[in-house]
Amino acid sequence: MSRKSSRRFRDLGTSQPPADSRVILRRAVVMGGSIAGLLAARVLSEHADQVVVLERDDLEAAHEGRPGAPHSSQVHVLLHGGRVQLDRWFPGFSDDLLAAGAVLSRDGAIRMYVNGAAKAPVSDEIISASRPFLESHVRARTLSLPNVHFIRAQVREVTFSGDRVSGVRCALAGEPADEIKNMAADLVVDAMGRSSRLGDWLDRAGLPRPAMRRIGIDLNYATAGFRRGGGPPGATTVQAIVLPQEGRQAGTSVLTAVEGDRWAVLLSGFAADRPTRDPDDFRERCRRLPPMFAEVVDECQMSGPVATYRQSDARRRDFHLMHHLPAGLVAVGDAVASFNPIYGQGMSSAALHASCLSAYLRSVTSLSEPARDYFELVRLVVDAAWQTSTLNDLALPHVDEPYPRGYRIARRISDLILEASITDAEINRRFLQVTHMRTHPSDLIRPGTIFRAARITRSRKSRQRVPS
Ligand SMILES: Cc1cc2nc3c(=O)[nH]c(=O)nc-3n(C[C@H](O)[C@H](O)[C@H](O)COP(=O)(O)OP(=O)(O)OC[C@H]3O[C@@H](n4cnc5c(N)ncnc54)[C@H](O)[C@@H]3O)c2cc1C
Repeated sequence: MSRKSSRRFRDLGTSQPPADSRVILRRAVVMGGSIAGLLAARVLSEHADQVVVLERDDLEAAHEGRPGAPHSSQVHVLLHGGRVQLDRWFPGFSDDLLAAGAVLSRDGAIRMYVNGAAKAPVSDEIISASRPFLESHVRARTLSLPNVHFIRAQVREVTFSGDRVSGVRCALAGEPADEIKNMAADLVVDAMGRSSRLGDWLDRAGLPRPAMRRIGIDLNYATAGFRRGGGPPGATTVQAIVLPQEGRQAGTSVLTAVEGDRWAVLLSGFAADRPTRDPDDFRERCRRLPPMFAEVVDECQMSGPVATYRQSDARRRDFHLMHHLPAGLVAVGDAVASFNPIYGQGMSSAALHASCLSAYLRSVTSLSEPARDYFELVRLVVDAAWQTSTLNDLALPHVDEPYPRGYRIARRISDLILEASITDAEINRRFLQVTHMRTHPSDLIRPGTIFRAARITRSRKSRQRVPS
């Protein structure tokens, strides 16, 4: 099973653009025009005469923290797995993004600390940019496709005809609120994010909603921008992780260069540990981190207010378990699964969902059947990210969800690998391939990697025992 998962995951993460396109839909409607919706629209543009994206926010006037995506005020980094997919769907995307000011951090420019100890050099790459900047580039590319249309409208419900979805009902921006437009579609995509109301609409139509799993992470974020012109020489991304252990507040802090010659600094905490909007509190917390954080907050000018954000849970909707799934309906991005954002997997997951949609539409024989094959592919991607992130979430002292089967052994292996990755560059490389969504977690949990990690940890512990 794990070899098969690993192979399928690798296929979905390919950098190769799909060779052929097959138009099988007259109109596809995408509900939500953020990252996941835009990527789904890009894929659908090869399979539908017309793709309509419905988005309730005014994205032209979009600013950080727009109502439909308040998290866009917070630090966002693009992991390698997501970048490969963006370049696959939009050739030259990351080069354009970098040319426009986004920052590529690689090798020695990435510094990582775990419990204050510097980690082995990182051999992966991260792109940093503010979320509105990144999203505007994805939007421009998607909307340049001749058969994709973007309409500002709020979807009010999905409509059904027999066992399938037949379209949506929506309120167009600028029209009286009670003027509802029907829009027929052969395929409807839920890209409405983690608070999607699709479940309510299915319920209203007498259909079951997808079961939701939640892990109460109770996460607090705060992000502030600083003008560059100071800060750590040579480093463009610094990450400081504090793992949960008695007497220590767990949390992750990130310092990363973004467009506009700025630093974006993120502080996070759990439960009662809440970074506030107070700039003095923000600076004071940064001074307790590796010195590079203090260098930025003390030497550079803050470029705007501190923005805070709270996320109560990580959640996933298990569409693949629905007994009664209407045909003509798929879901992508956070509408399917929204993780603890500290792992930075959300946009890469959404990009891989687009890859699942492409694989499904290239192989499907009948659209009159529910898209179960699609949801099986999505499940593979969601499981991979969920497994990586919830393993750590469940270790937090305030998280009291029941442990899933096999948790303790998985946790032991994960701790061993994480510990070895602090000093061993090869283990660190394999570890990052998984956390950056390039390879499936089963590629990491191989005997060769576990033995190597155990050997490294043992020899470090025995060195520590030898008196100097
Ligand atoms: C604090 C935070 C930090 C994060 N950091 C990272 C990171 O570093 N890297 C990373 O990859 N990911 C990160 N993520 C995750 C990432 O932001 C999400 O995975 C990503 O935004 C998913 O996009 P989406 O399109 O699925 O949903 P969203 O971005 O939530 O968009 C949903 C869209 O649907 C629209 N909508 C909703 N209802 C309707 C309706 N009825 N009609 C019309 N439109 C509607 C909304 O206006 C919105 O535009 C972070 C998330 C958070 C919360």
